[in-house]
Amino acid sequence: MKQHDTNQFARHVGLPRLGAEGQAKIISGHVMVIGLGGLGAAAGLYLASSGVGFLTINDFDRIDATNLPRQILFRAGDVGEYKTEVTRSALQAVNPALEIVALNQRLDEKELLQTTDNVRVVLDCTDNFASRMLINRICHERRTPLISGAAIRFEGQVAVFRHDKSGMPCYSCLYTDRDDNLENCAGQGILAPVAGTIGCMMATEALKVLTGLCSDLERKVWIYDGLAGTSQTIAIAKRPDCPVCRPDRPGQEY
Ligand SMILES: [Zn+2]
Repeated sequence: MKQHDTNQFARHVGLPRLGAEGQAKIISGHVMVIGLGGLGAAAGLYLASSGVGFLTINDFDRIDATNLPRQILFRAGDVGEYKTEVTRSALQAVNPALEIVALNQRLDEKELLQTTDNVRVVLDCTDNFASRMLINRICHERRTPLISGAAIRFEGQVAVFRHDKSGMPCYSCLYTDRDDNLENCAGQGILAPVAGTIGCMMATEALKVLTGLCSDLERKVWIYDGLAGTSQTIAIAKRPDCPVCRPDRPGQEY
């Protein structure tokens, strides 16, 4: 592991419930960020600046001019470059001790299973339903905590799925295949800082998982209405017939 300048994180170390021990867990933490759009940019930036030691980043897109308002790691001169490569440079400029694996391809199920090996927490920053369902399945199989975020128009939401704990709901308990018509921001628009708000929430939740701080969002989804300037949390029930996490599903150990 590269040497971190621990003095840099004095404001974390001074936090009563985090301290030097918590910062050490952040520095030894391995987080995977899937999707380097508006959520992944904000989350990745705060994870890097907070001292996370290992990041796996995944996206297969090149940077487009329409990305720039909310994908805050990218500059006008980066248009046309691969998101993974520009993200790697930007995050290592913030935290030179950060070790990054950049995966510049669409990962299939087998590849996703391989790349999540040794990952402590996964951030789903993708913008399509099929990817979200696949990532949830893989995280459940791996028993890896999953932080799921979404943003569209003036709204966003965040949920934490503790696949590493028994009896917890999963993404497929919240959404079913019938919800396949989830919208994306290309068609519906997105106010740029709303994506940042959700990405920052995801980074906060990831740091809490790494450091063992508890969260209300482990059984709830946090819903932000940027237009009204309000937020609410709604409980997520574990579905007894969930195709991913139901207790009697073959292969379940709970
Ligand atoms: Zn489930």
